[in-house]
Amino acid sequence: MEKTYREKPHGPSLDTLTVRGASLSEPHTGAISTPIYQSSTFRHPELFVSTGFDYSRGNNPTRKELEQTLALLEQGRYALAFASGMGAISAIIKLYQPGDHLIVSEDLYGGTYRLFNEYYGRYGFSFSWVDTSDFARLEAALRPETKGIFIETPSNPMMKVTDIQRCAELIHCQGGSLIVDNTLLSPYFQNPLSLGADMVVHSGTKYLNGHNDTLSGFIALSDSALESSLREIQKSEGATLSPFDAWLTLRGMKTLAVRMQKAERNALGIATWLREHPRVERVFFTGFPDHPQYALSCAQTRGFGSMISFYVKDPKDVPVLLKEVSLILFAESLGGVETLITYPLVQTHSAIPEAMRLAAGVNDRLLRLSVGIEDPSDLIADLAAAFARCSGEQGS
Ligand SMILES: *Cc1c(COP(=O)(O)O)cnc(C)c1O
Repeated sequence: MEKTYREKPHGPSLDTLTVRGASLSEPHTGAISTPIYQSSTFRHPELFVSTGFDYSRGNNPTRKELEQTLALLEQGRYALAFASGMGAISAIIKLYQPGDHLIVSEDLYGGTYRLFNEYYGRYGFSFSWVDTSDFARLEAALRPETKGIFIETPSNPMMKVTDIQRCAELIHCQGGSLIVDNTLLSPYFQNPLSLGADMVVHSGTKYLNGHNDTLSGFIALSDSALESSLREIQKSEGATLSPFDAWLTLRGMKTLAVRMQKAERNALGIATWLREHPRVERVFFTGFPDHPQYALSCAQTRGFGSMISFYVKDPKDVPVLLKEVSLILFAESLGGVETLITYPLVQTHSAIPEAMRLAAGVNDRLLRLSVGIEDPSDLIADLAAAFARCSGEQGS
């Protein structure tokens, strides 16, 4: 019999769950590390009898352990693991019908924009891009055919925070569903299902894995009918996570709690330092008490995460900083143990049309840091040295 933590009425905390996973240990051998079931197919004992595993596109024991662990962390009943975050988001869109309208956060991951607008836009779906942190605008965008709201909170890269509970109430009034991309905070800091969201998606490539060594994506949810539909989509389309990548993600997740805590502490220190820097115009970090939605963050999350965006005063500083940082790595992506600096304009958000990008605040002076778990004084020294190579007017 498979023992799971869920059977206990008062389960262990998130810190314990991330380390121990859904199963206490592998039942056949007692292996502490979930084995990598590198098998595409599974033998049947006899006709019409299955071990629960038939073919790895549909189900695989390593992936199942990962899915059950993620479901527990997200306080959902189910989770599905995909080959990437985009694979997961793409599966969700297939729950909808041509003619359906969705409201989407205006500053969100550029790949999601591209998928919705350039691909699903062709198939009769329509999307409205809205600053969902402004509830009045969200309400104004609602149409009779609106069947879903898709948000990122905090948003990426502008760090705007959207009220999950109010969004859920709004869309449930007309029978639609709320989907939250929870990549930036991870289940360690935010559980949208417990606030009324219907589905949570993750790029597991980011904080969940945490080591910049594999791609993965997830959907977590509690509705069994939706889960069956998503399983069918997952099995039919085949964008499932491989056993080895599932194992790497499980291994990365064991340290989610300590990584999230340390990275957040580092981020607070760096954001505070950046804010005082004469070449920096403005810093976007949800952990500042004067962030416009600070109270909302305190109410719906357990932490602020470790993503920082900032405007430099002079766009000419951007190439200098990207070239001169040495400990901090100039690379796309986020959520790993290494601190990365990204230029959203040409990297993560290049798929978004210029007018829309500028309206959202993604301009040629915006840089984004995904703060890792190195010593924060080394990270600050690296930034200070890079800024020192910038020349010209420092502004006031
Ligand atoms: C990276 C990312 C995605 C896409 O995930 P992949 O694993 O790269 O496919 C989606 N949403 C957010 C917020 C992301 O950061």
